[in-house]
This record gives sequence, C-alpha cells and structure tokens, in this order.
Amino acid sequence: MEKITVIGGGASGLIAAIYAKTENNEVTILERNPECGKKILITGNGRCNYWNQDQAFIHYHSKNQEKISSILTKENQQEILSFFDQIGIIPKIKNGYYYPFSNQAVTIQHALIQEAKKKNVTIIKNCLVTKLTKNKDKFFLTTSMGKMESDKVIIATGSYAHPKTGSTGIGYELAKKMNHTIIPPLPSLVQLKADLGSLKKWKGIRTDAILTLIEDDQEIRQEQGEVQLTEYGISGICTLNLSYHVAIGLASGKKERIKLNFFPFFPSQSPKQIQDWLSEREKRCPDDTLGESLEKILNYQLVDVLLHDNKEQKEKKWHQLTEQEQEQIIKKITALEISMIGTNSFEEAQVCSGGVPLTEIKVETMESQKIKNLYFTGEILDVVGDCGGYNLSFAWISGMLAGKAVRSNQ
Ligand SMILES: Cc1cc2nc3c(=O)[nH]c(=O)nc-3n(C[C@H](O)[C@H](O)[C@H](O)COP(=O)(O)OP(=O)(O)OC[C@H]3O[C@@H](n4cnc5c(N)ncnc54)[C@H](O)[C@@H]3O)c2cc1C
Repeated sequence: MEKITVIGGGASGLIAAIYAKTENNEVTILERNPECGKKILITGNGRCNYWNQDQAFIHYHSKNQEKISSILTKENQQEILSFFDQIGIIPKIKNGYYYPFSNQAVTIQHALIQEAKKKNVTIIKNCLVTKLTKNKDKFFLTTSMGKMESDKVIIATGSYAHPKTGSTGIGYELAKKMNHTIIPPLPSLVQLKADLGSLKKWKGIRTDAILTLIEDDQEIRQEQGEVQLTEYGISGICTLNLSYHVAIGLASGKKERIKLNFFPFFPSQSPKQIQDWLSEREKRCPDDTLGESLEKILNYQLVDVLLHDNKEQKEKKWHQLTEQEQEQIIKKITALEISMIGTNSFEEAQVCSGGVPLTEIKVETMESQKIKNLYFTGEILDVVGDCGGYNLSFAWISGMLAGKAVRSNQ
C-alpha cells in the first residue's frame, strides 16, 4: 500500500489528508502538538472566519501574483464550499465573511479532525519532524518518534507566524533541503510601528479613518475602517491589510508612509472644500472654538493630540485663524502622514509573506517542480491573503488540491 505522509496537522494539512485518503493508501498526519488545528482555534477571535464570499484576486498577494488565479479557480472555490457543506458546517455569513453558525472556531477544528478519523487517516500527535531526505523513490523522515518512510510527502507546516501554535518555521528548512528556494519570510497581517513623536499620546484611541499607503512617492493602496492608535504606531484590520506591502517595502529599502484621514466621510474632498465646510459649520454654531467644534466630531483625546502644537488656535474660532493656520489644521485632520519604521514580530503576526515561490510548484496540484511526489500546502507557500477569511481559503484549497493529486497519482 502506498504511504502518504502529511507533515503538520493544521488547516491545510487536515484537508490534504482527508482528500488524500482512499482504501488503497495509508495516510498519516505527523503533528508536533498534542492536538491538530491549534491555530484554527484562535482564528477570527475564536470564531474562525473560514471563508469570504468576495474571492477577487486582489485580496491575495504573492511575488508571483499571476499564479494565484490557477489555484483559486471558481470550480475549486465551489468544491471547497461543498466540502464544508457535506461535512455538516452551517455558515453564519456577515457582510460576506463566513463563520461557523456556532460562532466557535472549535466547530471547524473538531469537524475536520472527526472527518479525518472517519476516513481512517492516522494522526500521530506529539511528533516533530526534523529532517526530510529522499533516496530513489522513497522519502525518509527523522522525527521525535524515530525514523519513518513514505512514498509521498505533503509539507503543511505553516510559517513563522504565531509560533506558539506550532508553526516555528521548520518547514522552510525541510523545503530548503529538498532544493527549494525560500523567499525570506516577513511578518504580515501585523501591527505597524511608526515614528510618532508627540503622537504617541494617542495610545488607546480607536477611530474611523481612511489610510493611504505611500511607497516612496507613490500611493499604492487605500483602506478604510477602524484604526487603533497605539504607543508604537497603528493597528486594526485596515492597518493589517497594508502590512504586507509595508514589511516587504521596508525590507527592500523603500520609504513607507501612511496618510491618515480622520474625516472618512470626506473621502476625496480638497482642502479648500473642507475649509469651506468648516466655515459653514461655524455659521451654525458661532460660539464654538475650533477645539469645541472638532470635539463634536472626533474623539476628544484625538483632538488634543492632533492639536498638541496648536494650543492657541484651538481656543480661537475658525474664522479667527489665518488661511495658513486653517490649512495646517486641515492637513493634520485629513492628511496626517506618519513614517513607518517596522512591523511587530512574528509572535504577533497572523501570517507570513514569503516562503516557497509559486514558480517552484505545479499550481494545479501543489506538487514540487523540483522533487517528484513532494507537495506544499497553506502558508509555507508565498501567498498572503487579506484579513477576512482569505488565508484559510487558501489553506483549504491548496490542501484539497494536494490531497486530490496524491490520490489520483497512485
Ligand atoms: C491570531 C490569528 C488569527 C487568524 N485569523 C484568521 C481568520 O479569521 N481567517 C483566516 O482566513 N485566517 C486567519 N489566520 C491565518 C490562518 O490561521 C493561517 O493562514 C492558516 O492556519 C495556515 O494554515 P497552514 O495549514 O498552512 O498552517 P497552520 O495552521 O499553522 O498549521 C501548521 C501545523 O503544522 C505543525 N507543524 C509545524 N512544523 C511541524 C513539524 N516540523 N513537525 C510536525 N508538525 C509540524 C504545527 O504544529 C501546525 O499544527 C489567523 C492567524 C492567526 C495567528
């Protein structure tokens, strides 16, 4: 009987094993943790945002972006949704974001483990794989439980992100030993550090804003939503969605700045239009000082921080400010630029960019272009999805493709 080994029982490894199993093969998951799917449990704040209705490719990022469309085809998307339906998962869909109806990530973890067991997949827990070699047609694995052999191997070990969950980057070493190159992994979907100066005092404030990422002198991406202002920089979903570009840009010596517009209800108004709007506003509340007027719109602490160097103007009325002072205030509120100096660490990152390049695998099957019968799934590959279920979407589909390929290739 053909032996298939899946290294790593996370999101993509579980799906790969379930799809790989037939009556004519032995499929074994080797998982270093005492349980499979530990990371699934912390996804979506414990609710597991496992899919998104909007599967446009702009939500996925890779050095080889053009390859993604061959993996996330409409048919593959449909098939994985049918899979979750068949194993009994009922989605709760909120703005296109899929969660299990229970609102509990454990529902997805248990359902996948149960399905693997029902299919007679062998799960060996507490088994750390430290070395992988190939001689002729056989793979040889060195593990914490001794030496093992296999005919086919799927590497589903994840990345460096959240290493507490078991993904400590060993997979990259295994891939390198199998002649693969690794695009240097960087934290992604992660909080950003900025050169803040007196803005540090905005720590703890949450507010809606439009964030525009400027790389060198080019605006490359815009996100709108709640931003969390921290002592070291910025956080929140829209920040995380910009972090892929910021981390890679900074690592390659680019200047990364983020422009914050705290008046998101004016997405594209010119400074002159905002100036006029504030003048009109003053007519309605003629007794308000600038500070009082702004505190009726924004978090009062944010007004304090933004006008830290404009204390005199804050106490004046809008029309009493010179045109230049008005322009300066408007810039601080709608076009505040902060320079990025780094990201938080792999410990805090939800995922990693980099990994095995998509050019080194056959995208229809996830099989290595370099080593026959070796496959890669999930986050070890150079694909990052936005927040919103995209990383699990990729884990499921890449796992499914590898599982189907090892099965049909018997
Ligand atoms: C806090 C947080 C929240 C997230 N929320 C979401 C979300 O809501 N939606 C979404 O789409 N994505 C989310 N993600 C991302 C998503 O969880 C990952 O992209 C996905 O789990 C990757 O699946 P994987 O199979 O590649 O790796 P993992 O799920 O990390 O699984 C890898 C497995 O391999 C095991 N392993 C590693 N090395 C070895 C070895 N040498 N030997 C044996 N076993 C090994 C690990 O223990 C682990 O169980 C979140 C991530 C984090 C950290």
